Amino acid sequence: MYAEEVAEMAGRIRDEDIALVRERTSIDEVISDTVTLKSAGGGNLKGLCPFHDEKSPSFNVSPARNVWYCFGCGAGGDAIKFLMDAEHLSFVESVERLAARAGIQLRYVEDDRSAPRPRPQQGQRQRLVAAHAAAVDFYRAQLSTAGARRAREFLAERGFDRAAAERYGCGFAPDAWDLLTKHLRQQGFTHDELVTAGLSRPSRSGSLIDRFRRRLLWPIRDLTGDVIGFGARKLFDDDDGPKYLNTPETPIYKKSHVLYGIDQAKREIAKQGKVVVVEGYTDVMACHLAGVPTAVATCGTAFGTDHIGVLRRLLMDTDAVAGEIIFTFDGDAAGQKAALRAFEDDQRFVGRTFIAVSPDNMDPCELRLAKGDLAVRDLVARREPLVDFALRHVINRYDLDTVDGRVEAMRRAAPLVAKIKDREKRPEYVRKLAGDLGMEIEPVQRAVLAAANGHPAGGPSAPARPAPATSGVDSPRSMVEREALKLALQEPVLAGPMFDAVEAAEYRHPVHVAVRAAIAAAGGAAAGAGGAVWIEQVRDACDDLAGQALVGELAVEPLRIDGEPDPRYVSVTMARLQWGSVTGRIKDLKSKIQRINPVSNKDEYFALFGELLSLEQHARALREQAAGGL
Ligand SMILES: [Zn+2]
Repeated sequence: MYAEEVAEMAGRIRDEDIALVRERTSIDEVISDTVTLKSAGGGNLKGLCPFHDEKSPSFNVSPARNVWYCFGCGAGGDAIKFLMDAEHLSFVESVERLAARAGIQLRYVEDDRSAPRPRPQQGQRQRLVAAHAAAVDFYRAQLSTAGARRAREFLAERGFDRAAAERYGCGFAPDAWDLLTKHLRQQGFTHDELVTAGLSRPSRSGSLIDRFRRRLLWPIRDLTGDVIGFGARKLFDDDDGPKYLNTPETPIYKKSHVLYGIDQAKREIAKQGKVVVVEGYTDVMACHLAGVPTAVATCGTAFGTDHIGVLRRLLMDTDAVAGEIIFTFDGDAAGQKAALRAFEDDQRFVGRTFIAVSPDNMDPCELRLAKGDLAVRDLVARREPLVDFALRHVINRYDLDTVDGRVEAMRRAAPLVAKIKDREKRPEYVRKLAGDLGMEIEPVQRAVLAAANGHPAGGPSAPARPAPATSGVDSPRSMVEREALKLALQEPVLAGPMFDAVEAAEYRHPVHVAVRAAIAAAGGAAAGAGGAVWIEQVRDACDDLAGQALVGELAVEPLRIDGEPDPRYVSVTMARLQWGSVTGRIKDLKSKIQRINPVSNKDEYFALFGELLSLEQHARALREQAAGGL
């Protein structure tokens, strides 16, 4: 009866209340719950689009106009639409969520027989979340009962006091068949809702019983802080279930996406640009309490691609800004295997992945208990790149004092280097591997290249796949060129010397090339005094009509920075300009190298490889410079 009434009410919210919700909702705050936003200039914000896979942010939010729009995939709308799309809520659920957030009491239209009946799914998420909230309260209260002594001991033995248990909402599922189920049924939740939520399950006799019994519970929350499931730890020896039990897949709990602790960690993850992935609930608690607030854990599943997606949007991991993802493992074989498996996962992330192996096979929780908070912070600080970790792991199995050992180690390690999809990093690791093995670079290069082509070292080289074509003018590149020219025209005193130092060849767009040439012909930006006279001089020096028009345009177009430009902004802009062209050259070079047979054309191959190494070094330096102001 109750559920039907709710569904009925949920169907019709008064229009003026919906309007009020829109008006009182701060769209940037709502979106910031799941997507890290940075200034995009002009009061607008941008981040990585949650609706398509991208490396640089094209997802824009205008708080002033209360809308969002993605230039990458064309999705867009208001705050209600965002929740519908991002959290798979119905319209009504979205409005209800926003109303609760803004403290608005919604009024519903009185029963209107002519109104279409709401779909049964409407309001479901809200109901399942409400059931979980009630379950959290129930389990939490159980934790202080006599029956929960073992659960309290478990927490105390691991260094968690009452305040810590409170902060994480720890609870206890009592030694009873259906206490929770009865409690929630009394609160109006239906049989179906409790089953769908994963809180209860039908017994063999058909009656409804609690899913969790005699276990210590951690509520698992989504990014917005709603409890969507539980993790349950076995406490008693005669409990023959697995050590950990989790909520099964439900409409609101998807284990491939869920990260325990993300609600508490997300602000710090976005702020610090790094995330620490640990293995269990107690490790998350230990890390947070020890001063590593960026820790999260997967729940009952391995870290996977969907988790990466969630984290990348928080990290705002882009080409210009690289987020760090740090895995902690205890020193055992299983942990190391897991680390090596990361190679098989999302390769784009390999270069930003770090491994922190704890000493003495201790997990962060044990480490904190044995050696204190500082030891946990040290563990994370001592992280090493995943690739280094994996290479060391492989090499350590061989006796490098013998020729055979070195060659075998090279054969085993080369495929790892070849697997680094971020090919700009490969030459660096070829050098490192050669150094670690105490071998010349050339045979290692050959082994890596052979492995990349799917052949063991020394085998015939396969026809290389053609590299993707590099586009001549893409819009972000063009935008950077435009920005550099604006700086030269509008701020010649500030930007002039740096601008002039960057070669004209770095500009690709034909009209930009014309304007760059005109600035040089007018004596260079450093000589420009600024103001209308300088603009006139450049315009006069430009013999291209479109170029002349563009000079006038660029002279007044606002710079893409909030506030006044400073030397740092100039430096970042010029670095980004060159970086674009250097990476373009690197791509061309790589495609050329791929097409050369290193055996028959050895000299040409190594000449190009050498050129590639020095270009990559240049690119790295530029990348650091470009990241300086972002
Ligand atoms: Zn998009």
